[in-house]
Amino acid sequence: MEFEGNIRKMITELHAPVKYILPIGGEKIDMNALIGKEISMRFDGQINCVSCGKKTKTSFSQGFCYNCLQTAPEASESIIRPELSKAHLGIARDMEWAEKHDLIDHFVYLAVSSALKIGVTRGHQIPTRWIDQGASYAIKIAKTPNRHIAGVIEVFLKDHFTDKTNWRSMLKNEVLKDFDLAAEKERIANLLPLELQKYLDPENEVTEINYPVEQFPDKIKSIGFDKLPEVTGTLAGIKGQYLIFDDSRVLNIRKHNGYFLRVAM
Ligand SMILES: [Zn+2]
Repeated sequence: MEFEGNIRKMITELHAPVKYILPIGGEKIDMNALIGKEISMRFDGQINCVSCGKKTKTSFSQGFCYNCLQTAPEASESIIRPELSKAHLGIARDMEWAEKHDLIDHFVYLAVSSALKIGVTRGHQIPTRWIDQGASYAIKIAKTPNRHIAGVIEVFLKDHFTDKTNWRSMLKNEVLKDFDLAAEKERIANLLPLELQKYLDPENEVTEINYPVEQFPDKIKSIGFDKLPEVTGTLAGIKGQYLIFDDSRVLNIRKHNGYFLRVAM
């Protein structure tokens, strides 16, 4: 079978293990079905911006052309740094977009991908956000009515937890062993100033996430289509947004949002 088209990050569904679907052109590839099999992916140099669709030589910030990086609402600086969102003050690249994406319920969460990590996500992005990061466990910390407040809480907690995923450790499945997310959450409650404590989420449910990986690599070799236009290998598993091949090569699908690929299996 062969597919061709622009790819987007894999769509995921929380099952045990996670189900992965790769959108390519107008079609979808069931990636779980390819684990243990040989696949081949080829890139001929065409990248289309995920916002405006125009061809771009370089992909900025996971799929944007330079113009959209500067102007598109989905490439705003508050995507990476939620505390910079000013939508609650009526200021945004596109207020209509901000009303649907910034001025909605957000969660601050604690996740275990390798170490304990703090993060912010839109309410409807749970558990997608956790799966994309390759988290093994996650708990909601606070629920806020907009992106800005969630970002302010995250900034307070960055003194105590990392906000970065160590993707190499995550892919090797080097996951922190002894931890108690409910206890960490209680500790966090006491770290926050009073005016932010009212956003704490009373629910203490811990989500556990398992990935379809037959064999985790013990060393990691990261590959990408900019340097290597053709990738062929046997898929050993999928974690986060990474394809893991049986020879320890890993490919970040999300980094190639908007790349036009030919995929054969
Ligand atoms: Zn564009």
